[in-house]
Amino acid sequence: MSVEHLPVVVVGGGQAGLAMSWHLVADGVEHAVLERDAALHTWSDARWDSFCLVTPNWQCRLPGYDYAGPDPDGFMVRSEIISWLDGYRASFGPPLREHLAVTAVRPLGDGPGAEDPAGGFAVRTTAGEIVAEQVVVATGGYHTPAIPRLAERLPAGLHQVHSAGYTRPADLPDGPVLVVGTGQSGAQIAEDLHLAGRQVHLAVGNAPRFARRYRGRDVIAWMHDTGHYAKPVTDKPVEERDQDRTNHYVTGRDGGRDIDLRAFARDGMVLHGRLLGVEDGRLRFADDLTVNLDAADEVYNGINGLIDTHIAAKGLDVPVGPSRYAPVWRPDSDTGPDLGFGELAAVVWATGFTRDYRWLHAGVFDGAGHPQHRRGVTALPGLYFLGLPWQHTWGSGRFAGLAPDAAYLADRIADRIAECLAGGRAAGTVAAAAIAGPRRADQPADQPAGAGGRGEPARDGR
Ligand SMILES: Cc1cc2nc3c(=O)[nH]c(=O)nc-3n(C[C@H](O)[C@H](O)[C@H](O)COP(=O)(O)OP(=O)(O)OC[C@H]3O[C@@H](n4cnc5c(N)ncnc54)[C@H](O)[C@@H]3O)c2cc1C
Repeated sequence: MSVEHLPVVVVGGGQAGLAMSWHLVADGVEHAVLERDAALHTWSDARWDSFCLVTPNWQCRLPGYDYAGPDPDGFMVRSEIISWLDGYRASFGPPLREHLAVTAVRPLGDGPGAEDPAGGFAVRTTAGEIVAEQVVVATGGYHTPAIPRLAERLPAGLHQVHSAGYTRPADLPDGPVLVVGTGQSGAQIAEDLHLAGRQVHLAVGNAPRFARRYRGRDVIAWMHDTGHYAKPVTDKPVEERDQDRTNHYVTGRDGGRDIDLRAFARDGMVLHGRLLGVEDGRLRFADDLTVNLDAADEVYNGINGLIDTHIAAKGLDVPVGPSRYAPVWRPDSDTGPDLGFGELAAVVWATGFTRDYRWLHAGVFDGAGHPQHRRGVTALPGLYFLGLPWQHTWGSGRFAGLAPDAAYLADRIADRIAECLAGGRAAGTVAAAAIAGPRRADQPADQPAGAGGRGEPARDGR
């Protein structure tokens, strides 16, 4: 059976895979984007009906494709995000191969961990094998829904769903619902159920929060102006570099507003501490409810304080706001009320995701199984990651910071093609064939067509 050779394979057809492909198309580098499902499917399959962005539309900037709709300060709802991304895909026609999963990637040559896989990478897929000179892993940061194993000890009749499978309140059986976790998903799903008139119990974790608006503007706009989002992760203190830290809770729903769990409690939601376990038919909660609510408010106040400092330093004449949040409710007990299985109809696990790179047989992982890289470039030449949370900046795993990361990798990919060509090494042969494609009339005879194509569409972020 003949094996297909490609200069570059991109694994994953989400926004990161497409952003990478945009650059490769622009640079004339032959490649394929391999997607095990439908491209961009996570926005339709793994988000609930009332989902909307937390980040403002003006931050939706993909390579060659900025948000240009009527509401830059608004927050796209799910259907708008999907059409905006469909527009991206249609704008440049990425070479996508959908419903084809990558089941293994191995460096060729000296084997896994090879210092330089000069033979490229063997990419095994559900539709055959490809040899790729370079591989970009763009499989996102949220692979497998994480559900604590204590879920197995809940009664069989109690409906359970992970946040990635939650769609709408009416799809849960009638009766009270326990939402576990208060990251962005948990807080927003709790609000969704609360607004639908459902009795909600919420196990409050240690997620931080920030105000939606402060001193006359969206807090994200202020934080952008402070330079916070452009700061590379390597400039942050070591203890703040954890990629898996829970996101701040706030919402873009109905034009955007705070999520104030204390206000929910005042209005009938029942708050508990972190879910610890089950005992004698009852759920056991940690005594950290007060601490968790206070800590989230402290982060909220601290971010307002940073904005105050920025405004003062710039001497801006803007409205003055209450910089400290005044609690509208306080818990009677640190665990929250007792709760038995019989009092619940459903549990929504908003407990995050784990990563799954079992298919990637390359020595580029740390002890916790996270890829080790510098701005997406691994120690294994030709192997890259794109779209990881905090890959380079706050926006790396979001719409806001993907474009500069993709541009950076496009340059590294081009550098390696050039290196291989110059060295006449095996890794250069396939790439050379690809980039030697049709030569433009205005291109000098000694310049490969692909190299001449670089930079035709303007690159974002450089
Ligand atoms: C609940 C939630 C809310 C969010 N809110 C915001 C927000 O407000 N603003 C913002 O900017 N960002 C937000 N994000 C973050 C971010 O925009 C998304 O996570 C985004 O989907 C990441 O895009 P991606 O292409 O990196 O990964 P994904 O969208 O996850 O795409 C990865 C693709 O890789 C495919 N794949 C995986 N393994 C393989 C394989 N072995 N072979 C072939 N294909 C494979 C998957 O099927 C998938 O299509 C949110 C994320 C979540 C989960």
